[in-house]
Amino acid sequence: MAKKRPVLGDAVHAEAFQLFRLLGFDSLTAALGIEGEEEDEVQYMAGMSMGRALVRRGRVRAHGPDEAHGLDGLMASFGELYRRMGLGIIEYRKGEDGSLIVSVAECAGCHGAEFVDRPICFVEAGLLCGLLSEALGGEYTAREHKCIGGKGDEVCEFIITRVSA
Ligand SMILES: [Zn+2]
Repeated sequence: MAKKRPVLGDAVHAEAFQLFRLLGFDSLTAALGIEGEEEDEVQYMAGMSMGRALVRRGRVRAHGPDEAHGLDGLMASFGELYRRMGLGIIEYRKGEDGSLIVSVAECAGCHGAEFVDRPICFVEAGLLCGLLSEALGGEYTAREHKCIGGKGDEVCEFIITRVSA
């Protein structure tokens, strides 16, 4: 098949991603009169829909019948896609309280963002919950406690807890 973009290829600059990721949401929520925490919630919900869609469309897969295997398969598949798209480098571990801790190094979501001294990756938080929910079942909630662009941390890091079976 002939390349559809013979000069530019598949890659898009992170700055262009930012334009859509931040300004796009800002414009949309401003037009709808949504602001503050409600704006964060809209981004979170949008991310959740994206996460669910990635699994439903087979872009991210969880392999294996049991949940532990399923989680490893899911995160490997998601991590590979995320890295290939240049969105970030994913690592994860289990917290002592049974939570799932996901870190994103070189996060494109907040790359070059204005420092606001609070986490700002609400889309990514929702995205992780949508992925888990669609692939493994149950409902999840994610809280970003470290954020590169928003707070100046080394990585963006999300603490994810299961809130229902
Ligand atoms: Zn972040």
